[in-house]
Amino acid sequence: MIKKLFMKDHFTIPYGESHNYKLLISQWRDLCKVQGWKFKKFAMADGLPCYQVFSKGIKSANAFYLSAGIHGDEAGGSLALLSWANKRSSFLSKQPTLIYPCLNPWGLCQNSRSDRSGDDLNRQWNQPKSPVIQEIVKRSREMRFSLAINLHEDFDANGIYLYENPTANFKDNKATEILRAGKVHIPIDKRKKIEGRWSRNGIIRPSKSSLPKEGLPEAVFLQENIAERTFVWETPSEMDIRIRVKAHIAMLDEALGYTIS
Ligand SMILES: [Zn+2]
Repeated sequence: MIKKLFMKDHFTIPYGESHNYKLLISQWRDLCKVQGWKFKKFAMADGLPCYQVFSKGIKSANAFYLSAGIHGDEAGGSLALLSWANKRSSFLSKQPTLIYPCLNPWGLCQNSRSDRSGDDLNRQWNQPKSPVIQEIVKRSREMRFSLAINLHEDFDANGIYLYENPTANFKDNKATEILRAGKVHIPIDKRKKIEGRWSRNGIIRPSKSSLPKEGLPEAVFLQENIAERTFVWETPSEMDIRIRVKAHIAMLDEALGYTIS
């Protein structure tokens, strides 16, 4: 008990260190220790360990899946996920959640979209080459989630935008509400076509025929196999990272139903 009093209660990393994977992981490790969450290495990739966090046993049907850093040049997502988990630790301690803080450690260190072999880890979920993706796909047989979220960033975006898988077929305004929460910090990208797909007020609901030919993205795999509902959102990576982190946090709060009580 006395020891706890001297423990740190705030875990974050300086913005200038956003590609420092070692620091990111040491902050997650300390946060998990203080909160009593399970922190474990689950795979090695490009000579670096990859970790998972279980905030609580995820056997319940209402578990969440959160991931960031599958593209190493999108550091805002990993930074925001740590910051959000730190802010919302009491919420997370009650809410079963599986977190992958950074799926492409080598890419984060090198500011590279792809891994060391030059492969895009978000285009191989049907035939994974990376040991990280292989492991997640393998374990998906036993796991089910009510909601999955992948944090991304886009270097030529004008603002925030979001992908919702149309096969989930939810008839609510959740996607609009998530963007509304984020636009307090960053305006919505209003382009009619983004990344070659039709977009409406920053929302893209890609049809099966418009999926990338190179291979299956994480979100599509999750939606088809283990998640009831999936969102992927993007912040403009050319913008100040402090603002991008704020936008990611606001959207996570909205998506996960966190309410300040
Ligand atoms: Zn990305």
